[in-house]
Amino acid sequence: MGFFSKIASGLKKTRDSIMGSVNSMLKSFTKIDEELFEELEEILIMGDVGAATSARICEQLRRRVKEEGVTDPDEVKRLLKEIAAEMLRGGQELHVTTKPSIILVIGVNGVGKTTTIGKMAAKFVGEGKKVVLGAADTFRAAAIEQLDIWAKRSGADIVKHAQDADPAAVVFDAIAAAKARQADVVICDTAGRLHNKSNLMNELAKISRVIERELPDADREVLLVLDATTGQNAVNQAREFKNAAGITGIVLTKLDGTARGGVVLAIREDLQVPVKFVGVGEGVDDLQPFDPDEFVEGLFGE
Ligand code: GDP
Ligand code: MG
Repeated sequence: MGFFSKIASGLKKTRDSIMGSVNSMLKSFTKIDEELFEELEEILIMGDVGAATSARICEQLRRRVKEEGVTDPDEVKRLLKEIAAEMLRGGQELHVTTKPSIILVIGVNGVGKTTTIGKMAAKFVGEGKKVVLGAADTFRAAAIEQLDIWAKRSGADIVKHAQDADPAAVVFDAIAAAKARQADVVICDTAGRLHNKSNLMNELAKISRVIERELPDADREVLLVLDATTGQNAVNQAREFKNAAGITGIVLTKLDGTARGGVVLAIREDLQVPVKFVGVGEGVDDLQPFDPDEFVEGLFGE
């Protein structure tokens, strides 16, 4: 299956839900008036685009309709897609050019961190890169085993310690291994749940200091993984992590299982953090680089 069809099929539930409503709403209007904008705003909010972002989209839409002299409600869809794509564009590239580069993967429990790392590792190995995984989620033994399975499956190396080991020490060792083995990319898993939230944020800060000290000049990505099925909750999580850790990008997972894909617009607009990957399934090739234009096609359809 090609790139577009993966995104398109992954976004089917969202598209059927949002676009179904937008299409039937637009059909019921013969001209573009204030009521149309209000109904559209409501549909977008229902589609998890978020209140502030939905209002902003409709504001831009009013302006564009006026500027372009658009009178046919059918044209609204085209403008809506243009506005959404503009909102999502910029910063989606992953920066991993130095040897080694490092990717720290963070997020709450169950959002898909370990799976995302496995998929990313497979992608890099497929490009001929040498990858070292750091099993810095030491909170549960099962988490280390799960990453180990992904390492074997993807052909990446793994650095792991015993359960309850210091996560920052695992990251330190993973970086040392990557330097010694001349690896291209280090990808570190982290725990999503510690004894409490400040504990978790302190742990992430400690890991960041190790990375800063050991790889001061390396390209570094801090990817926050969010589960799209949680809708506005994902936006709240992003806000908390953004305040505590320097996030460079978002990975939005489980888009295949939800009609809440519109949340991508809320995340981007509210937090001003680029989405860099989307997960559209559990398979190894179900992690896709984020392409704003193709995503918008998948979101709103023809
Ligand atoms: P972690 O606790 O953040 O490390 O989450 P895991 O990587 O263990 O994933 C939790 C569950 O979500 C697993 O069953 C994964 O297979 C599933 N998962 C992860 N990404 C996706 C995705 O894009 N789509 C679907 N359908 N499931 C996913
Ligand atoms: Mg995990």
